[in-house]
Amino acid sequence: MNLLMKRYRQVIKTMCCSLALWLGLGVVAHANFKWETVNYNGLDYVTLLSVKDFYYFNKIKYGAVITMETRDVALEVRPGTQRCRMNGVLFILSHPVIERAGSYLLSKTDLTKLIDPVMRPTYIHRARHFNTVVIDPGHGGKDSGGLGHHENEKVYTLKIARLVKDILQRQGYRVVMTRDSDIALSLAGRVRIANKYPNAIFISIHFNAGNSRANGIETFTVSPVGVPHMGRDVRAGDFRSVPGNVMDSASIALATAVHSRALLYLNSKSAGYNFNIEDRGIKRARYNVLTGIKIPAILFEGGFLSNRSEATKVHSSAYQKTLASAIARAVDVYKKSVTSR
Ligand SMILES: [Zn+2]
Repeated sequence: MNLLMKRYRQVIKTMCCSLALWLGLGVVAHANFKWETVNYNGLDYVTLLSVKDFYYFNKIKYGAVITMETRDVALEVRPGTQRCRMNGVLFILSHPVIERAGSYLLSKTDLTKLIDPVMRPTYIHRARHFNTVVIDPGHGGKDSGGLGHHENEKVYTLKIARLVKDILQRQGYRVVMTRDSDIALSLAGRVRIANKYPNAIFISIHFNAGNSRANGIETFTVSPVGVPHMGRDVRAGDFRSVPGNVMDSASIALATAVHSRALLYLNSKSAGYNFNIEDRGIKRARYNVLTGIKIPAILFEGGFLSNRSEATKVHSSAYQKTLASAIARAVDVYKKSVTSR
């Protein structure tokens, strides 16, 4: 077990005890705060020092990794990179943290679209009460999705979605499935279904494939204005707002709940199994379902089917049940976090 994993486990262990801990329900911030801002290369930044002061982080440690902590939240960034961890969970920032004139700078986009909604979800204005969950099993019909060692992606997405549906329905949620059988459904069709339910959240379930050595889970929310699709350069179109941007903050809070619960459940012996699943992070993308949907929306990738050992985990009913319980639990965590003001 590497050091990072050890640290992550420690953090997860402490998170386990209290629901309130994750998503920073206890986080207090300064009123009437004067941010130290810097414009560099046309982008607005705030200093890490003012992030520390605003959220009352009690100490800041500089090095290859910069860390700061409150009683409830540990925040880590790596200058020169887009990597950020909050309570051990990996987030990929929209812009790298940079150093200029002796100050470390975080982009304003990352402050307002990531750090703040994750630290203070009760302040997300557009997140509203919901009782409907739209679950979107990726692919279907002729579109098999990723090719797996046992079954193809479309089979697992539907299996997990049905398990999540059963749990949520037992808990009193209304669940809408974009598909509940092996049928083809266009991306526009999925968007249309989701947008019929204004008081709902949307969770798209997928599995990765491609690289036989890659492994782990990742969660996507729509790229904020000015931020490209993961892995490609910024284009002019990225500066236009898309319908999904209305729910930027709520979506990142939902992604945080789902991603952190999935890691917690899949990697915790206390839940019965430890699948030892890698955290690939919470990322930004311009997938059609994310750009077009006007309710809080995420796309979750539950493991690599092209990796033989991970495909075997995904194929087991223990993995499927654990993952489904984590997603269902995350819906509750998210709901409490945005509505308990
Ligand atoms: Zn897929």
